[in-house]
Amino acid sequence: MTPDEALRRIAFLLEWRGASPYRVRAFHTAAEAARDLPPGPVDAERVRGLRGVGPVTAEVIAQASTGSVPRYLARLQAEAGPDAEAGWALAAASTGDCHLHSDWSDGGSPLEDMAAAARALGHQWAVLTDHSPRLTIAHGLSPDRLRSQLRAVAALNAERGDGFRLLTGIECDILEDGSLDQDEDLLGRLDIVVASVHSKLRSEPGPMTARLLAAVRDPHVDVLGHCTGRLITGRGRPQSRFDAEAVFTACAEAGTAVEINCRPERRDPPDDLLLQAAAAGCRFAVDTDAHAPDQLRWQSSGYARAARIGLGADRLITTWPLERLLADRSG
Ligand SMILES: [Zn+2]
Ligand SMILES: [Zn+2]
Repeated sequence: MTPDEALRRIAFLLEWRGASPYRVRAFHTAAEAARDLPPGPVDAERVRGLRGVGPVTAEVIAQASTGSVPRYLARLQAEAGPDAEAGWALAAASTGDCHLHSDWSDGGSPLEDMAAAARALGHQWAVLTDHSPRLTIAHGLSPDRLRSQLRAVAALNAERGDGFRLLTGIECDILEDGSLDQDEDLLGRLDIVVASVHSKLRSEPGPMTARLLAAVRDPHVDVLGHCTGRLITGRGRPQSRFDAEAVFTACAEAGTAVEINCRPERRDPPDDLLLQAAAAGCRFAVDTDAHAPDQLRWQSSGYARAARIGLGADRLITTWPLERLLADRSG
């Protein structure tokens, strides 16, 4: 085990036990620093001078560099039990991410930076899903702006040609009547469509169910984004109420993936609904909904949740090779 892998495993196990994303990030940052070290034993004192490496991470690097399992990691592994290994294996099998934003809508970084970060994480593909027109507060893309973005993505892929592919997509608002907030011909041109509710989240269960059913059955829709809309940090927001059995059954029938949204303030769907969707036979997209490059790392928390309820890689479209993802989409 390299120091880099030891640190990433620790990050994963901390997520597994629900540590704060900021604590987890410290280990990812140290892992990046460790990647540049020459192979062979290194001294803890020496690596402490590296950017992002503190006393704890320096000890981990030094112990792993001699080929032994760092004590801190061994302790976390013993406490986490065997299920955590399944979660780690799923996270390691990740091929992509279906939900991320750039500065074209409410993300903070250019799409080139988001693509570079996804590629650096080892993803084969990632889907750029900026917001749709009605979400004006998030600078949703008009049809014209989306068309320009498609050209920008095509240019980026042509320029790189290194095996990684940025896929075209959208996080499309599901309007009150269940229709989608973008021109249909444009939706048909996108690689992946994530559909999410961002308005009237407190509707009665009847109308909300009808709204979600219409969206997940729409042939353009591939993923149902953060299905309950809940926020679990800060002032929070209660989850939307709907007939989950009906919606998840429709997702399973239509082949629409239910998103496991990894944002720390969302963690959507909640555990009970995640179990219900799994029982309904749904497939899932483990998505970060990243608005910054660093947030693409949040994905492992979603894989940990998937492993906890026994989901295998076949049910998780974010572990699929690009060819399978796109073949499934067109079929
Ligand atoms: Zn959203
Ligand atoms: Zn989003």
